[in-house]
Amino acid sequence: MSDLRHGLDRNLIDGNLVASSSGATFETLNPATEDVLGVAADANAADMDAAIAAARRAFDEDVEGWTTDVGFRARCLRQLRDAMQSHSDELRDLTIAEVGAPRFLTTLAQLDSPVEDLGYIADLAENYEGWKQDLGAATPAGVPSHRWVLREPAGVVGAVTPWNFPHQINLAKVGPALAAGCTVVLKPAPDTPWAASALAHIAATETDIPPGVLNVVNSSDHALGAMLSSDPRVDLVSFTGSTATGRKVMAAASESLKRVFLELGGKSAFIILDDADIAAAASLAAFTACTHAGQGCAITTRLLVPRARHDEIVEVAAATMAALGAGDPNDPGTICGPLISARQRDRVEDYLRLAIEEGGTFATGGGRPADRDHGFFIEPTLITGLDNSARVAREEIFGPVLTVIAHDGDDDAVRIANDSPYGLSGAVHSADIDRAWTVARRVRTGTMSVNGGVWYGGDVPFGGYKASGIGREMGVAGFEEYLETKAVATPA
Ligand code: NAD
Repeated sequence: MSDLRHGLDRNLIDGNLVASSSGATFETLNPATEDVLGVAADANAADMDAAIAAARRAFDEDVEGWTTDVGFRARCLRQLRDAMQSHSDELRDLTIAEVGAPRFLTTLAQLDSPVEDLGYIADLAENYEGWKQDLGAATPAGVPSHRWVLREPAGVVGAVTPWNFPHQINLAKVGPALAAGCTVVLKPAPDTPWAASALAHIAATETDIPPGVLNVVNSSDHALGAMLSSDPRVDLVSFTGSTATGRKVMAAASESLKRVFLELGGKSAFIILDDADIAAAASLAAFTACTHAGQGCAITTRLLVPRARHDEIVEVAAATMAALGAGDPNDPGTICGPLISARQRDRVEDYLRLAIEEGGTFATGGGRPADRDHGFFIEPTLITGLDNSARVAREEIFGPVLTVIAHDGDDDAVRIANDSPYGLSGAVHSADIDRAWTVARRVRTGTMSVNGGVWYGGDVPFGGYKASGIGREMGVAGFEEYLETKAVATPA
């Protein structure tokens, strides 16, 4: 087993772990301490060009049978899973240090779940019945013919990812793309390069993934993501990040008419109906909003409460958030760690000032925790006194901030939930499961939790309606995003 500590300042291009061609590096920080952890290779346009060329060549030349041999690909993905699992202690420490991810989350979506899901995607690809589908005989235009539908790899995938759940998002793209027979250039977020360097190092040194099939290009320069979206050698760009950047990716991709897959922002509603277990629902809403300091696109950040129960719900939610506080991500009991960067903390603080300007009040929180003089921490914050027209109720804040909005019954709750540019996730709580289902169906969003049910899983499609994205990640739908469709007819 290789030692990860000596491999994190390298990119992976055409099977080689390499420094930037300019020799440049950039620092990665621990957001809980502001200490420099070390450096990553700072790729430039020439490095990205080499990575795209390698991925194109590996695909077009079917390197070692990659595009055609699903058994080989599944074996490589299981190797990758096993190798990552054998490094799980190092990867866990690295994820807590670099991402500021609370330790408890690394046993879930921050690390262990997406690594385990590589096995799911390997099984899915090997057992996929859609590779060759027999449509049977017909006589179109008087010609007796036998028709088939083939699914084939989409080609070279450019994967561009954010910093908030780096392993989850890197692997939810790389896993299905490789399983489908594509080749990949991964461009991770500059805030969390080491999560991707570790993947690159393990893939290069502990798996049989052929040269050029997986390329990992860290850079401090966002323009390298833009290169992937516009380069005609890339067939599909798979992007997760902000809606503003997603629009740029889609526009850049239009010139070469590449396929675009977008997982974007959210402003999801947690709806409490008037018959719900108020205390349980309110504390779950508060807990969810604090998780990973609110840096999750699918976190429910608007709390829609029956007007008559408003004050008691605010009391429970505020007490829960105050009790959770913001803490050291290394501590197994921490739910809310730091924000990723000073820039992100500035952005959240701007929104907290805006909440007051808009006429809101803080039922708890509202600033930096008094007991932390290092790290990019913000107190869990509950905003009250606003309606759904406030900017803090409409825009993604990406901090541990929950805005309470009163509703006047089920129809009104659905109206408010849907009165958003986004449609990524949501939750509803009611003592009556049928009533909760009715509301869940009416909210225009890609995922819904009913009475605390958890939808997250490798086999569950995840993605958004409206400005939250196009396409689905994970599950069968997430695998099929990386496939093309070919119809073939032979004489019957
Ligand atoms: P971001 O959009 O700033 O950056 C995401 C990635 O895009 C980074 O790798 C960045 O270098 C790259 N990039 C920047 N400009 C680019 C351009 N013009 N062309 C191509 N690539 C470019 O997002 P972020 O700040 O890293 O992440 C936070 C955002 O991501 C939030 O809005 C959050 O909701 C969203 N997000 C969405 C999901 C989801 O699945 N829907 C998951 C996680 C995060």
